[in-house]
Amino acid sequence: MTIESYTKSPFLVPFDGSFELEKAPTAPPGKVPTKKKAKEALAEIVEELHDLQRCLYAQDRFALLLVFQAMDAAGKDSTIRAVMSGINPAGCQVFSFKQPSATELDHDYLWRTYRCLPERGRIGIFNRSYYEEVLVVRVHPEYLEGQRLPHRPKLGKLWKERYESIRDMEKHLARNGTVIVKLWLNVSRDEQKARFVARIDEPDKNWKFSGGDLRERALWTSYMAAYEDALNESSRPWAPWYAIPADHKPTMRLTVARIVRDTLRGLKLRYPELPKGEKAKLAEYREQLTGE
Ligand code: ATP
Ligand code: MG
Repeated sequence: MTIESYTKSPFLVPFDGSFELEKAPTAPPGKVPTKKKAKEALAEIVEELHDLQRCLYAQDRFALLLVFQAMDAAGKDSTIRAVMSGINPAGCQVFSFKQPSATELDHDYLWRTYRCLPERGRIGIFNRSYYEEVLVVRVHPEYLEGQRLPHRPKLGKLWKERYESIRDMEKHLARNGTVIVKLWLNVSRDEQKARFVARIDEPDKNWKFSGGDLRERALWTSYMAAYEDALNESSRPWAPWYAIPADHKPTMRLTVARIVRDTLRGLKLRYPELPKGEKAKLAEYREQLTGE
């Protein structure tokens, strides 16, 4: 059975290919909570996430995979930090995927991410993912040279084939216990500019900035086209995408935390019950212990 893991959210990307990126808000709609209110609300959700993860681990049936994709400076790192801050470190893992290494290029493009998938009971986070293969690589098709594919179809066909492989893999995972949630942090071009300027102006943030970030920014329109296509081609009930407004960080974190919480709640997790025979013996074990 394929686990349908989507939750109700105004930011859920529809499954029928009708997502229009132009219309997706980058600023949170409605009233923005004060920083303090947002922090308090987040703390409450994080506490519940902690309990839900414990149960996920005890039940040992599902794994949760959170995929984060975004343009630079959208806030992937800080969102991951904020949302996962209360979770038992033994129960979650984060992997970042950057330019592939020589070893990674010696394999098919799903390999490096597949080997980092979370095991049952755990929450696995991908900071960038196999989606880079239809995003950055689509914007820079020259990167395909390094991938040394034996047969290279025309580009249009190649992206279609990649979407198909990704959908198939995700469906396979969903059928076998991995609950998939994909989050695109949708930052506006103006807000990215402001954050880059801050990274240049504030010495403590200089390390976060590189000239390459400007080169990618110049390709904004191509990236947006690639994102729109990728989200339409791969948002499905068992591997939904959410397009999260990212211009207001506290609200963005809250929105992401809510989606993760609602997804876990939707699994109706239960602590496992001991087999009948074992359960009956508990009183006996207790007596043994207390009577020592
Ligand atoms: P931050 O900038 O917040 O530290 P980041 O995820 O942007 O984090 P960088 O080292 O700046 O990390 O960038 C990683 C780069 O690697 C990104 O530009 C991304 O698009 C690129 N990348 C990821 N996967 C691939 C891939 N398969 N092929 C080519 N480039 C890739
Ligand atoms: Mg970067």
